[in-house]
Amino acid sequence: MKSTAYSIILASALLFSCQTTKNTIISVPTNHDKLLMSVAWYQHSAEMAALYYQGFNIAQQRLNEAINANKHTKPLAVVVDIDETMLDNSPFEAMLITNADDLKGWYNWTAKATAKALPGSLAFAKYAQSNDVEIFFVTNRDDSERAVTLKNLAEAGFPYATEDHLLTKSDLSYSTGNTSSKVGRRAKVSENHEIVLLIGDNLNDFSGEFEDRSVNNGKEAVLKNHEQFGQKFIVLPNPMYGAWEKPLYNYRDGLGDEEKTKLLKSKLRNE
Ligand SMILES: [Mg+2]
Repeated sequence: MKSTAYSIILASALLFSCQTTKNTIISVPTNHDKLLMSVAWYQHSAEMAALYYQGFNIAQQRLNEAINANKHTKPLAVVVDIDETMLDNSPFEAMLITNADDLKGWYNWTAKATAKALPGSLAFAKYAQSNDVEIFFVTNRDDSERAVTLKNLAEAGFPYATEDHLLTKSDLSYSTGNTSSKVGRRAKVSENHEIVLLIGDNLNDFSGEFEDRSVNNGKEAVLKNHEQFGQKFIVLPNPMYGAWEKPLYNYRDGLGDEEKTKLLKSKLRNE
């Protein structure tokens, strides 16, 4: 009897511990394993470096053409995005995977101001400066990140790491009301400069036309503007995150990794 009672208690304890373990697993913050391949590619593939050099080499050629054309009435400027365009934040993406950190960790990362310059970005920015072409950093980092962003850019060696060349996300004064849209901030730069080139890893870095991804994930807008790529628009690769994800997740925010993976799988093409 004693041993039966003990067995029941033991079995109950085991069952309880299994449930506890199960509950514990469920309550663990979302993991980011789906990022593994893209972060590995971004950090370690030589192709990634080659694509950045390719982008900035083309940018330099286009800049030379604009300077030589000498048609401008206003000073020339290049508008660049910061994250995954000029600065490499892939260590933060790696932290998401290894620490199952959440996006709040982003501010801890940018506060370090240690993101490195991406291949070709620094040489391009210095080349622009040596030709009196100003660089404007139009970023969706927040106003609260301005100081650390300027510190990071300056310490990485970028010219124009100054208040008047940095346009952050919450600068609503010139925006369209959508704080993520860069349309208003580009218009602000255009008031006193002629933007000859735009460089970014997200189509929203180039034109408002790309902000709506509801038609074929935005590919219709790309087709319509295809002649601009490698001309005025220089696109850099970022497989880790971006506005391209939103239609794949049906524009739903706050999904866990499991749900995201399920949605991604449901949208794969087999032919
Ligand atoms: Mg970016």
